[in-house]
Amino acid sequence: MSTSKDFLLGAIEAGGTKFRASVLNLDFEIVAEERVDTTTPDETMQAMVAFFHANETIAALGVASFGPLIVDEQSPRYGSIGPTPKPGWTDTPLLDYLQKALGVPAAIQTDVEAAAVAEYRLGAGQNHRSVGYVTIGTGIGAAVAIDGVPFRGKDHTELGHIPVRRAKNDQFEGRCPFHQDCLEGMASGPAIAERWNADPASLGDRDEVWDLEASYLAQLVRVYAYSFAPDVVVLGGGVGTRPDMAERVQHHAIKDLAGYSVSHADNAKLVVPAALGEDAGLIGAAVLASTILP
Ligand code: ZN
Repeated sequence: MSTSKDFLLGAIEAGGTKFRASVLNLDFEIVAEERVDTTTPDETMQAMVAFFHANETIAALGVASFGPLIVDEQSPRYGSIGPTPKPGWTDTPLLDYLQKALGVPAAIQTDVEAAAVAEYRLGAGQNHRSVGYVTIGTGIGAAVAIDGVPFRGKDHTELGHIPVRRAKNDQFEGRCPFHQDCLEGMASGPAIAERWNADPASLGDRDEVWDLEASYLAQLVRVYAYSFAPDVVVLGGGVGTRPDMAERVQHHAIKDLAGYSVSHADNAKLVVPAALGEDAGLIGAAVLASTILP
């Protein structure tokens, strides 16, 4: 007879360039894993299904997907990919397809929501009720989890696209295709590369680069503080986990808050680096699966 201890969780991290499928135990340890390139929706989802059929039976599936994602449960397209420049993927019914093909309870979050939940549960957000999570990469993804549940309205939040106050003497025009000089347009990995005409990894410890970057990210911390009043804001991705990035962002954020916040103004640990690295999204998907076990 099987007990709940025997349950295995299925997790998929659906990324724009790679899909990752894993089987995890209830301690969120990965026991089997596969990565495939993101090609067409049919081919990619079939590879995911084949992986789970070839492994031990899972009791539930959690999916952490690239966005935009339809998260309005009243929508007939709930769990489908929203309008995306990625050829062929707009309206792909990711959740519905996988749930039917695998015949287990399934649930879906954005990759950033899942990472926020994972950091809350097992990473840098442990022992906090309300956790903001920002990842700086090709774009800027940001979400907030309250008691382990991502905050959503009709859509998931898109905090990477908040307007920012331009730094003095910053002539960079911004590169967001929608808003040009929003936070993502000014501070994503490609924005750093274009502004300084160099691969961000090669910019080493040039103070002016990372201080400017921190001044933009701090504006998001201020939005977090005044919109969601989180206990902590976790910085992920290659840029976010640079050795002194959290301290730099913290410094600018406290200055920007200017003392106007009951809990944040003197919180020396408001901004912290992520702890789960590149596994955050996948672990978040597994945490999600654990909440819908039969
Ligand atoms: Zn934008």
